[in-house]
Amino acid sequence: MTNDAPACPECSQPMKAGGFVLVKREDDPRRTCRILLGCTSRHVWWRWADRPDKPLEACPVPELFRYIHR
Ligand SMILES: [Zn+2]
Repeated sequence: MTNDAPACPECSQPMKAGGFVLVKREDDPRRTCRILLGCTSRHVWWRWADRPDKPLEACPVPELFRYIHR
């Protein structure tokens, strides 16, 4: 995977990767990796690690990002 940091869709600040989480995907019985991305304004997004072409989605559990960075 690449380490490129897209801009936050909400405030256009640069984001940095905050690690990986394993989550269940609706159309897939296996757990799949999501990449967490957070900006300096504390917006937290994530996307599927294996679907980089999909748009970022707002992460419903932004505590994950802070937890990883503690
Ligand atoms: Zn932001």
